[in-house]
Amino acid sequence: MMQFFGKPVCQGIAIGPVALLKKQENQVPRRQVCDPEAEIEKFHAANIQAKAQLQTLYDKTLKEVGASGAAIFEAHQMILEDESFLAFIHNAIRADLVNASYAVSKTGEHFAKMFADMDDDSMKDKAADIKDISQRLIGILEKSGEAELSATDPFILVADDLSPSETVQIDKEKLLAIVTVHGSVNSHTAILARTMNIPAVIGAPLNLDAIQDKTMVVVDGFTGSVTLDPDEKLCAHAKKRVKEELEKENLLKELKGKETVTRNGRTIHLCANVHNISDVESALENDAEGIGLFRSEFLYLGRNDFPTEEEQFQAYKQVAQLMAGKNVIIRTMDIGADKQADYFHLDREANPALGYRAIRICLKQPDIFKTQLRALLRATCFGNISILYPMITSTEEVKRIFEIVKETQTELDQAGIAYRHPLQGVMIETPAAVMISDDLAKLADFFSIGANDLTQYTLAIDRQNQRLEDFFNPHHKAILRMIQMATQNAHKQGKWVGICGELAADLELTKEFVHMGVDELSVAPSKILKIRKIIREMNG
Ligand code: PEP
Ligand code: MG
Repeated sequence: MMQFFGKPVCQGIAIGPVALLKKQENQVPRRQVCDPEAEIEKFHAANIQAKAQLQTLYDKTLKEVGASGAAIFEAHQMILEDESFLAFIHNAIRADLVNASYAVSKTGEHFAKMFADMDDDSMKDKAADIKDISQRLIGILEKSGEAELSATDPFILVADDLSPSETVQIDKEKLLAIVTVHGSVNSHTAILARTMNIPAVIGAPLNLDAIQDKTMVVVDGFTGSVTLDPDEKLCAHAKKRVKEELEKENLLKELKGKETVTRNGRTIHLCANVHNISDVESALENDAEGIGLFRSEFLYLGRNDFPTEEEQFQAYKQVAQLMAGKNVIIRTMDIGADKQADYFHLDREANPALGYRAIRICLKQPDIFKTQLRALLRATCFGNISILYPMITSTEEVKRIFEIVKETQTELDQAGIAYRHPLQGVMIETPAAVMISDDLAKLADFFSIGANDLTQYTLAIDRQNQRLEDFFNPHHKAILRMIQMATQNAHKQGKWVGICGELAADLELTKEFVHMGVDELSVAPSKILKIRKIIREMNG
């Protein structure tokens, strides 16, 4: 039994077998084979297995994220049927008498380079597809890494680090817990874990090379402990705690359908933060009163090209319909910083958090923005959609956004396409936005306070930087005063204010937020009933 401590980022206890996610950039061994036809047979079996994995991923993503996210897996299946790709691999095995995985690796490198050298950007993007699919085949042939992640049994994911786009691709139905060696507690991967309500520990000092797949592990998302090969006593204790946690959750279910109102009658709007359609289902299960933040950029991640207007429209329409008239606040895409999509071709920046991201991309590349706006506006006919703009720092930005929205509406009018005029809010997540919140409140219909970035920018602490976590203090007086100031300024203009950053779910601050006059809290679905309980038991 070996115990390690990392930082807990999502509460809960889990016990189960390890599935290692190793970055598969390692050298593929070259082996001489004497029976090339047998090696080709092996390759074909791997090819069939890869197609089956991709089909499973396609079906799951289609259900959870929609056609936009699923398209990538269809494209990968097509590569596995591409005749020149297959012929190249066969030739390499026969001519060089090498093992199948080595032939795949060399073929992958060859095709990836060929596409990367082309002038056409969409061809360049194919290079990433080829690399991805080659890694999948190599994983199966060498029986390592990601191939295990589509396992049929529940597993605890152990990885060096996880990017948001890797996280969205994990089979969540089987995922018991997440453990990473690196990563920041304030990263979007940590936020995703909380949204999915998966116990998670990051920064656990594990030596991944010394851990075998399927090793039993106990993960404690309360204390941050990760215990490999637990003894019988610890296993029994962990199982008991899993049961207790389930019982606590069941008790909270009694609060479903009840109002979020203080003893003396103050009502708070309690909503959910979501990334995709399956989070919306969990929001409904936990009785969310609306969606306070749909991080639409997740529609752009884990794929090779921009989601089309139609794909986005279908996703927004589906959320609006699922929420059946409840308010759904969709934030325009906040790509950049840790949420990277290669096809945006963003330059490498010394300070990405202070860089070309979110609304800045939308204002500089209005075509990308307008595609999203058209999809959003069209979806307004199917429910109660509001639009939220991230990373605002000036009234000029908001005025320019409104002009672009107006232009888009005129274009829809000219094409005879129906839409309703949505409420439009701004995120208060930069100190500048707080300081001019009196002026912003005259323009916006509502505020949504993004406490994650507000903490990052106010305290000058990169939220991705693991070494600075001890300094990252969202309880800092400066942050609480800023929330108070923005709230007062909004109220002076008769506008309402929500908090959608992770701080909104901080149970130690729930009462304080209610006393400050905050109107809405938007949190991970699993936190909704816990917060409702506190609010119903307090005087506000
Ligand atoms: C925030 O900054 O608080 C926020 C809600 O947005 P994100 O975490 O996606 O940057
Ligand atoms: Mg933010």
